[in-house]
Amino acid sequence: MMVLVNLSRRDIEYLFTIYEIELNFGLTKTLQLAKRMNVSPSTASAALKRLSNLGLVRLSYRRGAKLTREGLEIVLDMLWRHGVLEQAFIRMGLNINEACEVAYRIQHLLPKEALYKICEALGHPYKCPHGYEIPHPGKLSRKKYEICKPRTSF
Ligand SMILES: [Zn+2]
Ligand SMILES: [Zn+2]
Repeated sequence: MMVLVNLSRRDIEYLFTIYEIELNFGLTKTLQLAKRMNVSPSTASAALKRLSNLGLVRLSYRRGAKLTREGLEIVLDMLWRHGVLEQAFIRMGLNINEACEVAYRIQHLLPKEALYKICEALGHPYKCPHGYEIPHPGKLSRKKYEICKPRTSF
């Protein structure tokens, strides 16, 4: 079951980064996370503790952090939201970079019901405009999804 918490854009970026590291290395080390997020190790460590308190990552000090099932569900849910919103914004006239950046700003704020409607209206797009596959709800899988990231901010 999806945890009901107010996650910030930054939280989502941490979860995406942990997901990416986990796909490549199995576990996320604090230093690795700090480097990828461009923050100090103590900032990365605080973020891991916060996500752990929310039940989204499991910490093991010797071995590293790992997404919980809830954490993984949120990553996949956000990737779905991201791809669907990008496709919607492209149709509304934004270019691909604008669509990505604006999606990042609001993807975690919209009610899921709104996303379902947009997804349906768009015919359940299979890929985002960058060509990354979109995971659709109810299909939790261990498949490796690529994370779409903003190339520019404006
Ligand atoms: Zn994107
Ligand atoms: Zn994309």
